[in-house]
Amino acid sequence: MTQRVKMKRPYNFSAGPAAMPLEVLTQAAAEMLDWHGSGMSVMEMSHRGKEFVSIHEQAQADLRELLAVPEQFKILFMQGGGLAENAIVPLNLSCAGTVDFVVTGSWSQKSQQEANRYCTANLAASNQTDGHTTLPAPQSWRLSKNASYLHLCSNETIHGVEWHELPDLKALGYDSPLVVDCSSHVASRPMDWSRVGLAFAGAQKNLGPAGLTLVVIREDLLDRALPICPSAFNYRTVAENQSMFNTPPTYAIYVAGLVFQWLKRQGGVAAMEQRNLAKAALLYGAIDGSQLYYNKVARDCRSRMNVPFFLRDETLNEAFLSGAREHGLLQLKGHKSVGGMRASIYNAMPIEGVQALVSYMLDFQRSKA
Ligand SMILES: *Cc1c(COP(=O)(O)O)cnc(C)c1O
Repeated sequence: MTQRVKMKRPYNFSAGPAAMPLEVLTQAAAEMLDWHGSGMSVMEMSHRGKEFVSIHEQAQADLRELLAVPEQFKILFMQGGGLAENAIVPLNLSCAGTVDFVVTGSWSQKSQQEANRYCTANLAASNQTDGHTTLPAPQSWRLSKNASYLHLCSNETIHGVEWHELPDLKALGYDSPLVVDCSSHVASRPMDWSRVGLAFAGAQKNLGPAGLTLVVIREDLLDRALPICPSAFNYRTVAENQSMFNTPPTYAIYVAGLVFQWLKRQGGVAAMEQRNLAKAALLYGAIDGSQLYYNKVARDCRSRMNVPFFLRDETLNEAFLSGAREHGLLQLKGHKSVGGMRASIYNAMPIEGVQALVSYMLDFQRSKA
């Protein structure tokens, strides 16, 4: 046991479920059997009891503060992940009509395909022809008149492209709300809520354990649901019941709440953004400066969270990955649809982890030169 504690923990570059802050895991472990003298584990508590209600309210308040969510937005803790939201959003935003989609990678593509079952999902813009390595300029989008909303994925986890700024739809003369899938970079930087109608995120990338889905929705969008929308997924119903219409994922909410407190101790999301910029600059700098590694994404839209990269000699892939594992650098294999490698460097990845990765990459390159 003592030896296990002393051993250095590996750095985990998984795209999700992803690494958690060590402090959070340690606290959750210490509180596992008896939360704050209650005699219960959090996962044994009634979701309506005063102990869990206090955990839930604290998590909501901390998240609202961290992301500076304005009063006219509701924070909902739901289930089903990002993929369920691909159906839940159209069912709620009454998109029996047309919805505009900006497709920039696998995730927005999935969103468009799912929405097409409930509405006409217009492809307003796409970066398909260049293999999802750029972002289409908002001025070039083919927008619909009177669309129910426009959907985009602000960070494409698989292809590694990120909107560093959300589009200003009003400036484009577009009055419908913006829906953002921010699953893989929520809380990595501040959010401009003046441009957003609804944002959703599965928790397992940057917020906490899988099972919790975050929805932040402007209040005027709560009453547009189609009659067939399931009650448990109706945003108005969920909001009116403080996200407790049905039993919420209590343990996931508790651990996410510990992550929110950890984020506050780190200085909040503006401070995290500075760290994430430094981490990304270090890794992309090493890739761009090397003979062996390359990244395909245009420089101005590279993700700060998910860094796909390739070895010019693909026959070295297995040796690279097994060497990485030996050096305590885990889960670097790229998504199967893209190949190569991918390093996900979410909030919980310290700069030391990126330094260790870069140093391994350079050593590996030298050994093969
Ligand atoms: C992971 C991810 C999803 C899917 O989340 P699930 O929880 O598996 O449904 C959706 N969108 C983005 C951008 C993601 O990174």
